[in-house]
Order: sequence, then C-alpha cells, then structure tokens
Amino acid sequence: MATAEVLAKYELTIGIECHVQLATNTKLFSGADNDARGKNPNTVVNPIDFGLPGMLPVLNHEAVKLAVRAGKALNAKIANISRFDRKHYFYPDLPKGYQTSQMYNPIILGGLVEAPLEDGSIVKVRLDHAHMEEDAGKLTHYTDYSLVDLNRAGTPLIEIVSQPDMHSPAEAKAYVTELHRLMTYAGVTNGDLYHGNMRFDVNVSVAPKGAAELGKRAEVKNLNSFRSVERAAEYEFNRQVDLVERGEKVVQETRGWSDATGKTTSQRSKEDAQDYRYMPDADIPPIVLTDAEIEEIQNDLPALPSYYRDKWAKLGLDRSVTESLLNNQNYAILVSEIQDAAGDDTAKRVAHWFSSAVSPEDEAAEIASVFSPEAFIELSQMVEKNELSSTAAKEVFNELLVSDKSARAIAESRNLLQVSDESAIAAIVDEVLADPSSAQSVADIKAGKDKAIGFLVGQIMKKSQGKANPALAQKLLREKIGEL
Ligand code: MN
Repeated sequence: MATAEVLAKYELTIGIECHVQLATNTKLFSGADNDARGKNPNTVVNPIDFGLPGMLPVLNHEAVKLAVRAGKALNAKIANISRFDRKHYFYPDLPKGYQTSQMYNPIILGGLVEAPLEDGSIVKVRLDHAHMEEDAGKLTHYTDYSLVDLNRAGTPLIEIVSQPDMHSPAEAKAYVTELHRLMTYAGVTNGDLYHGNMRFDVNVSVAPKGAAELGKRAEVKNLNSFRSVERAAEYEFNRQVDLVERGEKVVQETRGWSDATGKTTSQRSKEDAQDYRYMPDADIPPIVLTDAEIEEIQNDLPALPSYYRDKWAKLGLDRSVTESLLNNQNYAILVSEIQDAAGDDTAKRVAHWFSSAVSPEDEAAEIASVFSPEAFIELSQMVEKNELSSTAAKEVFNELLVSDKSARAIAESRNLLQVSDESAIAAIVDEVLADPSSAQSVADIKAGKDKAIGFLVGQIMKKSQGKANPALAQKLLREKIGEL
C-alpha cells in the first residue's frame, strides 16, 4: 500500500451514480405491488413487467410526482418535457430485452447537493442530471444453475448522476449520507438501504496533482451503505496509486466490492462495453409538466435538513448534535415542534437527549416510532423545576421512547422524583452534620475553604439515594453551618 507521502502526490476524483427506489404503491408501468420485501419470488409481477407480447405500459403518475419532488429537493430544474427510451441488452433478469429508461431527455436537470463533513466543512457536489427508469429482476446463482426473480422488475427508480466533484473518501461518504437524507425527508423513497432502496455506483480515478486530465476511472458497483462507499473509495485510491507508481496502467472497468474482505475486484473491463442501441420508447407518451404543476409539487415538500440546520444554528445547538438528530427525520420534526411550542431551552435539552439516542452505527435505520411533543416537554420542565436530576431524566427519557406513559408517571413508578421538600432535606442535613466524618469539612468551610461543601452535598445525595434537590441541599447546608 502506498504511503501517505506518496498518496499526497495524487489527486483523487470521485463521481457517484445513485439509484433511488421510489416509494410508490405500484410499479412504474404496471399495477403490480412495488414492495417486494419478504415476498415469494415471482409473486408480485404483471405481464407488463415481463414484456409478454401485446403488453402496453401505462406510466405511474405517482412516480412522476416523486421524481419531481426529488428534483426539487436536489435544487435541480425539472424538464417540462421528458421522454422514455429503450436501453437494449441481454440478461436473464430482463425478459423484455431492454430496460425502459431516459437517455436523451431526462426529467431532472442539473442540481446541487451541499453535504456537511464531520470537520464542519461542506462539500458542494453538482449534479449532471437524474433520470427515471425501471429496475430489472434479480438473479440468484447456484453451483450449476441460476434462478430468476422478477419481483423487482419494473420497480420505479431515479438514477442521480453527480459530477466528479468529490476528492476524498470522506467527501464521498458525506455526499451519499446527505443524498439519503434529502430523498427520505422529501418522501421520495423509504430509504431502506438493507433492501437496496438506494444503491451507489462510485467512479474513482487518480491523477498526479495539478494534471490537466482526469485519470482512467474504475466504477465500483452496487454499494449499499455510506460506510462501504467511503471504504471502497479509500481502497481504490490506494490500489490505483500503487498501479501508477509501479508504472502500470489503470484500466477502465467495473469492479465489485466486498465488505468482508474490504477489497474491490474486477468484474468486466470496458472492452466488452455494450452498444445499448438506445431508441425512443414509442409505447410511452412523453411526460409533459407545466410550470404550475411543478410548483404545486414543490410547495408540497416538507422541511429539508437545511431548514433544521439553520433553525438550530440560531439556537446555538452543537453541530454534531444537530447532525445526529438529522439522522432520524421523526426526531428532527419532534425537536422542531417542541421548539415552537415550548421555547429554545426546552428544545435544546430534548435535542441533547435525542441526539444521544441515535446510534451512529445505525445509519439510515428505519424510523421506528412517531412521538408526541407533550411527554418530552413535560420531562424537560421537570428538570427545569428541579424535580428530576439530569441522570434521572435520562432514565425517564429512555423509558419514554418505548412506553406511552407520561414522564411523571414513569418518574414516580421508578421512584426518581427529587425531594424538594425542605423539612425532609433539612432532616438529612442535620444527620450529615451530626456525623463525626463531617467535622473537618465544616471546619474548612468556616475557614473559608468553600470547596469542602462538595463533600457534604455528596453525603446528602448519598443518604437520599440521589433524590435530594442538590441546590436546595446546598442552601440548607450553608444556613445550618452559619448557625453552628
Ligand atoms: Mn441505471
């Protein structure tokens, strides 16, 4: 592997193509169910999807609407007229002999994604275009035969094609992460990465720094996690620099990625590049959208990540807290609603609870439940009024995530409410002051060494099993010591 010093001599360039499965009920051109998850093979297929003679595709307008939403979330222009073309190739998972796609007049033109990196900087990735197309079926290979499952055939997709604007594995990861957020927030896709709702093809090339031309690129196909995009880009950078350093050539080819080995391997070189014989699909009329129709769909878009980033930057929320909250759209909506209903301080407290509830590992986890703001506002107010310690509040919060009890009911049932009753705390204060082990601290405090109060408060907390209100305990302590 090339050393960091050698790598520094080269410029890495990355462009990404992303297939996004649109969240429609039915397929792009037939009435078959669009959700193939957990279904038996070849049970959600319509003759249109296998291209039986005489079949006539009918365009799913919901898919068009979602494509427009996608384009608007991507800061792109929507074409007033776009068309479908046939892309011919032979493969057993494509019984029609061609994929219906958009080659010449795609629906989404240009676009820009601004993706935040972990260090606080932003990578701006321009988009070339995005087109609508149908998915193919799935082949499963056994030792001496293969089986075809057409459940996915005809599933509506958009393919988002970026410019080669990324120059590090971290930028590639940031881009796909943001793309996933944009597409799920806009309701374009369910975004289930495990089931391939978004799949990334990563084009990687290297060239000596300052070179006028990009190097030959390798395309790593079908990645389905943000982390694997980052790892594959890193691996390819090293592999290609090694080749160039040894005086060998990088070949333009398609490569596969293995999460297990952490390596890419050659699948096919560009020499067997196919001629797809693109031609307009005469069975499908062009998609015609007026500006008014496009605007109507755009006005229907919910808040996107940038809305929350601006709102929470003003709140003074730490950037990392904001970003982890944004991993879960329901959490983002909830915190935003709480901010509107109960103010900044409450929102800030709840934001911290939720951001620590999002594990960085479950990237793009399926959003489980929808919460109502009230329970969390109540919990926050209990902390504000010193009825709960912050540790106890965290415990109540964790139970709120999985139960429908109120915050107070949970705090009571777990016996977590702080004692703010003066006489009860005063009794404990007396007990602690009477203990011989407190004598030194009391003497210290009287001598002006105020730090010693911490030990005494600690004793009170211990005796009250953490439930005494510490501020009140300290106040009473000072009063009593003053009287001694
Ligand atoms: Mn495609």
